Order: sequence, then structure tokens, then C-alpha cells
Amino acid sequence: MSLIVQKFGGTSVADPERIMNVAKRVAKTYDQGNDVVVILSAMAGVTDGLIAMARKVSESPDNRELDVLLATGEQTTCALLAMNLKSMNYPAQSLMGHQVEVMTDHCFGNARILDIKADRIRELLEKRHIVVVAGFQGCDPDGNITTLGRGGSDTSAVAIAAAVKADVCEIYTDVDGIYTADPNICPKARKLDTISYDEMLNMASLGAKVLQIRSVGFAKKYKIPVHVRSSFSEEEGTMVVDENSGMERLVVSGVTHDTNQARITLKKVPDQPGVAAKIFSPMASAGIVVDMIIQNTRAEGQTDLTFTVPRNDFKKALKLQKEVAADIGAEEVFGDQNIAKISVIGVGMKDHSGVASTMFAALANENINITMISTSEIRISCVIEEKYAELAVRVLHTAFGLDTRE
Ligand code: ADP
Ligand code: ASP
Ligand code: MG
Repeated sequence: MSLIVQKFGGTSVADPERIMNVAKRVAKTYDQGNDVVVILSAMAGVTDGLIAMARKVSESPDNRELDVLLATGEQTTCALLAMNLKSMNYPAQSLMGHQVEVMTDHCFGNARILDIKADRIRELLEKRHIVVVAGFQGCDPDGNITTLGRGGSDTSAVAIAAAVKADVCEIYTDVDGIYTADPNICPKARKLDTISYDEMLNMASLGAKVLQIRSVGFAKKYKIPVHVRSSFSEEEGTMVVDENSGMERLVVSGVTHDTNQARITLKKVPDQPGVAAKIFSPMASAGIVVDMIIQNTRAEGQTDLTFTVPRNDFKKALKLQKEVAADIGAEEVFGDQNIAKISVIGVGMKDHSGVASTMFAALANENINITMISTSEIRISCVIEEKYAELAVRVLHTAFGLDTRE
């Protein structure tokens, strides 16, 4: 007998019929003698719909009230699943984030989990109940409802799995595992049997939304085996595990694309100490996450500086940088929202050379221009024009020998 956490994403609970299918799967796991904690997302599209509704009544919705609103999506699915399980004569109970004491910081809309008490989950499990917990939500030390950022139910699931010391955390979604690239845009993508926490951390941070990045951080820290699989089949999915657990060691194990970025350039910035701090401090104060940064040295004591920000923050960032440019005497500020960041990832890169040149040659072959490059031990990222994003993923997938063998 095991303690299993099962998380079902939006498409898996998209309507009452699918919720009833989830109930059958949960009941089967329970009937096999396992203890089961279920974490649910809102129905597909509901979170987006709630955000759109909030924007109808307020141009810039209050962050606290927005979280109160968004948390209702997960409340609905949990109540429906617990109700359905009870009507099938299973002892089930739904719990919201605050009832499980998912304690977070105050950052509405993107709160971080600080601690999970989970006493009520343990008490219910003792009584052999199925516990159904709302994902994506927690509460801050003042008792306010908070939400964990888009895709946050994954993080709820893994963090709760860590809190109750589950044997495995199963993430049920609309694809049957983690692939070498997004299978919805790269038909030749291959399903991986295993992937290391570090590779998955990179893939998640570089655009693969199949797992929210913070969920992978929790999994790595608490060594929770995460099994990503389809809610529509019985097939085994992909295990996210420790690097040393006998996994296949590919040079490149994945290609990702991220089209949620925008680029800002400051031209002819005075090349003096303290200037970079003046450019980036206002971004940090505004809570804008700056990603890639490049600076060119120029002969006349001036330099150009380019960086990327999340596309949602583009307008705010551009406005701030116009103020900075006036202050530091930079000549011009301009931006571009039509960019994509394409990355190749693999732990095997650590001891292989030539990965960067293969990547650049493959893009050049298709006449795709690279405007920014950044590297780490296990990944290389290039910024290109957005319209080439999907082509670039497919081309790199082939170039690194990842295509399905026919
Ligand atoms: P859920 O609603 O179940 O949380 P998401 O839409 O958040 O599901 O995540 C699943 C989606 O992630 C897939 O439909 C797929 O398009 C996308 N995805 C991106 N990269 C990958 C990848 N490398 N492997 C699998 N899925 C990926
Ligand atoms: N419902 C939330 C979202 O759409 C959380 C989640 O599904 O993980 O982002
Ligand atoms: Mg998701």
C-alpha cells in the first residue's frame, strides 16, 4: 500500500463527465488499497474566463480581490469531485488551501509556499478518506487567500506530496508524458521515460509549461518522484527523478520555445560604473523579472544594452526605461514583442563540445537570424523572430537526433 498524490489539470476536469472519469480513476487507486490525496485545477478555460471578467469590472483589478476570485475555479472542481465520489459511496472530503494550511507569502497572484501543515489531510487519511484538495491556492499569514501563479496546481501537488511524505506524485494531464519538445508543435517529439530534476527545471523555466517550474524545485528539494502521465489512458508516462538513477544520458534531451518574452534595447548608454544598476534597480522594484542581458562595448565610451522581460510586463518596463534613459543620458529606448526564445537542454552537454555550433548551424540553414544568445552548463538559448519559433523547434529537434525513429 502506498500514499499517492494525484493531480488533475484543467483539461482532465473540463466538464462533469470528465470529473466523473477522474472519480473512477481515483476510486480504482483507492480500491487497490492505497491512500489517495487528489489535487485539482479549475476546469479548462475557467481561470482565463475569471481574469477576463475581472478586467470587465476594473481596468486594473485589485490583486487581493483577484485571488479571491481566481480561487473559486479550483473550489468548484473539488466540490464536484468529492460530491461524485460520495455518491459512489466513497468516503471523500474536499479541502481548500487555507484548510490544509498552505501558508504562503503575501505576493498575490504569484505567491510562494512557505509551509504546509496538512494536519487535516493526515487525520482524514487515518480514517481512510479520499482527500480532495484545491490546487493553486493558499493563504498568507494574515489569512488572505493567495494564488500561486499560472500552472500553480502542479506546485500545490508536489508541495503537498512532500508535506504528507507521499510515495509518488502523479500529474495527470492532456499529453502522455514529457516529450523532447512540445508534442503539439513538434510531431516528431519523443516521449521520455525519465528526465532529471535539473533538466526539467530548465525545460520548465524555458517554456515547457507541462510542469510549473516551482513544482520541479519542490520535487528536487524533497526528492519526490513525479510521474507525468495522461488522464485519458493507462499508459506509463515520464518519471522526473534524480540525475543518478540510471537514466538515459542524452547530450540534448529537449528543445523548448518561449513566446512570452519581449526585448528592450537602450542605445548609446554612457559606459560608466553604476549605469547597469540604474537600469535594473527600477525593474527589480517593479517586480519585473529580467532574463537575458547583453551589453556591447563601443569605442566612444558608450554602449548598447539589450535585455528580455516577460511579455506581460513589456509596457511597464518600456515606460520605466524611458525614464531611466532620460536620467542616465542614453540616446534611445526601443522594444520588440515579436520574439521567441529557443533553447536546447541536456545534462550530457556538460561533457560534450560542439552543441552550440550545431545549434547555430541548424538555425542558419533555415535563414533564421539569432539576436541574443545565452548559455549555462546544461542549456543554450537563442532569441529569434517569433514567426520562426515552431520551425526552429522542429529543425533543432532533427539536428540533435531527437526525432522519432520510424
Ligand atoms: P494541465 O492543464 O494539465 O496543467 P498544461 O496545459 O498546463 O496542462 O500542460 C500540458 C501542455 O504542456 C501540453 O498540452 C503541451 O502542449 C505542453 N508542453 C510544452 N512542452 C512540453 C513537453 N516538452 N512535453 C510535454 N508537453 C509539453
Ligand atoms: N487554474 C490555474 C491556471 O489555469 C492553476 C492550474 O491549472 O494549475 O493557471
Ligand atoms: Mg498546467
